[in-house]
Amino acid sequence: MHDILAPGSTIGILGGGQLGRMLSVAAGRLGLKVHVYEPAENPPAGQLCTDLTTASYDDATALRAFAASVDVITYEFENIPTSALDLLESLRPIRPGRRALAVSQDRADEKAFLQSLGLKTAPFYAVDTEEDLHQAVAEIGTPAILKTRRFGYDGKGQVRLTNPNEVTAAWHAISGSPAVLEGFVEFSHEVSVIAARGLDGAVACFDPGENLHQNGILHRTTVPARLSASQRTDAVLLAGRIVTALDYVGVMGVELFVTAQGLVVNEIAPRVHNSGHWTQNGCVIDQFEQHIRAVAGWPLGDGTRHSDIEMINLIGDDVNQVPTLAARSDTALHLYGKAEARPGRKMGHTNRYLGPAAQG
Ligand code: AMP
Repeated sequence: MHDILAPGSTIGILGGGQLGRMLSVAAGRLGLKVHVYEPAENPPAGQLCTDLTTASYDDATALRAFAASVDVITYEFENIPTSALDLLESLRPIRPGRRALAVSQDRADEKAFLQSLGLKTAPFYAVDTEEDLHQAVAEIGTPAILKTRRFGYDGKGQVRLTNPNEVTAAWHAISGSPAVLEGFVEFSHEVSVIAARGLDGAVACFDPGENLHQNGILHRTTVPARLSASQRTDAVLLAGRIVTALDYVGVMGVELFVTAQGLVVNEIAPRVHNSGHWTQNGCVIDQFEQHIRAVAGWPLGDGTRHSDIEMINLIGDDVNQVPTLAARSDTALHLYGKAEARPGRKMGHTNRYLGPAAQG
């Protein structure tokens, strides 16, 4: 029997953004306390967690004190410095574990891992020098996308090459960072599966959502996604294979391209995911509670979708629509408590009820 954290126990969360905030709400509902560790002042999660540490990831004293105050550690973003993880891991369990972090922190390792499971990815070529990039373009062709191996998110650290003459410009655009060149995948649309795996190895997946990006940032997720019954099964089974292969504990976002040749895995995120926010109003147990249940060693909840939902991100000035949105009876508002609406900044999201769950 695994340890089940009793209500009153404390979950430590690395990162205090909106994901940490919504995880804090879910933990609180289950009677669990949350201690958030975040380098920036006044993080969104700080308004709702039980305890907040404001310190950098190289402050060993603060990290030790944080670990001593919690029962288990989880995180809301994948780029946590390795030295901090090494120290924390010696003191408390970290869930999901290091393997998932290592794999998802590096785009080349991630693709190699996915291919080792027999899953399809974009063709890719690891690039460390401009000379490599010439080789990569010769091998993969154009159009192609050059992505930094590490620290990319929301389309940052990416540049498209439409013809081979653009090698030097592309290489400078990513400042010569280690990268991968990816072949361009001809997809009809993008979907994602939010998968969860418990400490006991049980796996539960939410229904795939269909995602629309604008300027590299998620704009909208709709459920049900446009998928055939066999694609839907495929999507869920492949996500299950990924979490099981990693001996994963927690929620993971698996982003997929839908192509004529089947589902191609774009990337995995070892955390709750923006494309899973619809679950807050489409399921009895949402992705945040599911993650907390998993890391606390509780049984996973039933993630069956009861409603069709359209999730829309409120980015930057979109937040000015809040008074109008608040007046809509079919729309649940989720705001992140951020004071300043900078361009590109995720300020909140809406989940609009479309009707009782229909089959996709
Ligand atoms: P990423 O940061 O890797 O999720 O990429 C952001 C977005 O760029 C994706 O959601 C796709 O819309 C697009 N994209 C990324 N990689 C590829 C690819 N290999 N082929 C076509 N489109 C891509």
